[in-house]
Amino acid sequence: MIDLHTHSTVSDGSDPPERIVELAVEAGCSAVALTDHDSLAGIGPARTRAEALGVTLVPGCEISCHPVGVGGLHVLVYFVEDGGSPLVGELGRLRVDRHERNVALVERLVSLGVPITFDMVVARAGSEEGVGRPHFAAALVAVGAAESIEDAFDRYLANGRPAYIRKSRLSGPDVARLVRDSGGVAVLAHPYSTGLEGPALAQVVGELAESGFGGIEAIYGRYSPRQRQELGNLARRFDLVATGGSDYHGDSKPDLGVGTGRGDLKVPDRVLGQLEARRPGA
Ligand code: AMP
Ligand code: FE
Ligand code: FE
Ligand code: ZN
Repeated sequence: MIDLHTHSTVSDGSDPPERIVELAVEAGCSAVALTDHDSLAGIGPARTRAEALGVTLVPGCEISCHPVGVGGLHVLVYFVEDGGSPLVGELGRLRVDRHERNVALVERLVSLGVPITFDMVVARAGSEEGVGRPHFAAALVAVGAAESIEDAFDRYLANGRPAYIRKSRLSGPDVARLVRDSGGVAVLAHPYSTGLEGPALAQVVGELAESGFGGIEAIYGRYSPRQRQELGNLARRFDLVATGGSDYHGDSKPDLGVGTGRGDLKVPDRVLGQLEARRPGA
């Protein structure tokens, strides 16, 4: 089995990249993709550990795009290496924008009367680059401004709440083009996060397939067998690879394990070969 969706301390996961690889081996995975938000910085250390342990490390990342429908559109990117490529340049811009958003978010929370500092949030993230809203949520809980992570999003951080600050985003087709120009494959992550289902979801999936997507994340840690089946049907209909992964984050999503998800995840080895066959020029 394999796991094509994990997060480390490079973004909002709680385990270092090397530890993700160790957890994959412990779970019995033959391959694991590291898919941190907006960054390939964990790929080097993860690959070194993977080579030592004899497991395949698939380079990856996850990009939050302009929403479609009512929810978010997240895109998983595979096979793009850190180094000069159109996508890597764009990731750099996204990280600068994230940093500016984070600084503005601290100011906004302070103006709302929350005693929070940038250093507090960075301390939670482990590095300045890795800071995301989940770290703000944890800090809000720590200072008593929220009761839980969910409560922090509901009161302050979610879209439409008082401390929501936009950051610049690409569209799904933008990402597809950048990824193909960089030699990689784009995959629609956790499709139900779009808030769509049925014909409305099928229409969006069809448009993304048309724009160059290679896969759809059908076997997802938190999806039911029925949902996985509906997404598998969409994959067949639009000639996309039905991929899968846990979306492991460590402490912030304690119900999910690398490779195993909630215990019922099992992404077949062959999916990796199918995905590789979608690389430009493959
Ligand atoms: P950021 O990229 O810094 O804006 O943070 C986005 C991350 O925040 C997502 O990947 C989720 O892990 C988390 N997130 C977004 N909305 C919520 C929510 N309503 N409840 C819990 N976590 C959320
Ligand atoms: Fe995340
Ligand atoms: Fe995501
Ligand atoms: Zn993710």
